[in-house]
Amino acid sequence: MTIRLQLDPTATGALGACFMCARNHLAVVTVGVLTHTGGPGHQATEIPLDACRACEGQLLLLLADTQRSLVRPYVAAGHPH
Ligand SMILES: [Zn+2]
Repeated sequence: MTIRLQLDPTATGALGACFMCARNHLAVVTVGVLTHTGGPGHQATEIPLDACRACEGQLLLLLADTQRSLVRPYVAAGHPH
């Protein structure tokens, strides 16, 4: 099972259920897709994931944090001099 997030801040909303906070009848945007590869006795499935604006904001923050930590320079403990 794989979750692929495709955050698009300009995506237009629709009413639906949020996969993050499990509330229904909210303005949601599609933020990704949940895929499950097929195999013996299993059929491959692909489910779009919708999130409400609040949870989309959380995801954007998570994404921003991840990207920031990748470029953050390594700082050794202790004083350099
Ligand atoms: Zn939500």
